[in-house]
Amino acid sequence: MKTYRKELWFNAPARRAFINITPEIENCLKESGIKEGLVLVNAMHITASVFINDDESGLHHDFDVWLEKLAPHEPVSQYRHNVGEDNADAHLKRQIMGREVVVAITDGKLDFGPWEQIFYGEFDGRRRKRVLVKIIGE
Ligand code: ZN
Repeated sequence: MKTYRKELWFNAPARRAFINITPEIENCLKESGIKEGLVLVNAMHITASVFINDDESGLHHDFDVWLEKLAPHEPVSQYRHNVGEDNADAHLKRQIMGREVVVAITDGKLDFGPWEQIFYGEFDGRRRKRVLVKIIGE
């Protein structure tokens, strides 16, 4: 069995962002040389997510509005976590959008359903943060 590990770095210029990282994951897959197996992609920070959904800007806007309704950033004083920091909402948003995805690899390709793409979801940006890519297979 072959294994492959890589860390991808991101620095979103805004507090919140959704970034399609599918091309980066496809590059990792090529680099790994693995044709049959599994790829795990996870955020290495507890205020960011990795998830799979449609690459459609209206939907991304809808996610952002929905998450702000569930866990508004302001007022920051509403959260007990915000003693000396202001990112409690980012922890909550990450929890609902998830930590990681696992995708099957078939014939050297990500074996997606229709319209599936992999996204990095940033909820407390403006600093360098990492995503882990781990691939196992043959
Ligand atoms: Zn925090």
